[in-house]
Amino acid sequence: MPNILFLDIDGVLNSILWNDSHQKEICDGTLIDEDKIKLLASLVKETDSEIILHSGWRSWFDTTLNPLCTEADKLIALLEKENLHISGMTPDLTTEKIRKTKKFSLVKADEILLWLNLHNSCITNWVVLDDLDLHNKQIKRHQVKPDPTIGLTPENVKQAVKILLDNKRGKFTKIIALPQKRDGLRAGHFCKKTYSK
Ligand SMILES: [Mg+2]
Repeated sequence: MPNILFLDIDGVLNSILWNDSHQKEICDGTLIDEDKIKLLASLVKETDSEIILHSGWRSWFDTTLNPLCTEADKLIALLEKENLHISGMTPDLTTEKIRKTKKFSLVKADEILLWLNLHNSCITNWVVLDDLDLHNKQIKRHQVKPDPTIGLTPENVKQAVKILLDNKRGKFTKIIALPQKRDGLRAGHFCKKTYSK
């Protein structure tokens, strides 16, 4: 059974500092720091993890994880260079109000916990990479929170390895009750897909 790595993108695989110094790449649709992908690859390989996307970038993929825009295409290409792929996405529990105000961090915890409830029997352990506070105590115990000005660091990778390998699932508090299913729930399945050109 795999470990699960819930992946946010902005502030994790890029950073404010990287964005400021890579305007040319950004104009080209590349919004990702390749060095951060290499760090992510080291984490995935060391912990035998599957990547589940919980970033707002999910809207740039269809429900079977096919990229819908240049930016998503480039993310997949950079992941492939390191033999990485996205195995699934968390469900979308956003409301119109959240989409309008862009306060996605208000539902991210529920989206992650819903995914875990749906797949609880087929995972070993889990970690959340996100630069924002997700307003949930259980998530906090499994979260590594990069500094958004810097993005993912080797120290963050060490913390994530520790969460995934040191804590056995039996020690965790039981995953909380399912959040209420809302309209617009989509893409919650653990749809494995290998991208090939
Ligand atoms: Mg972020």
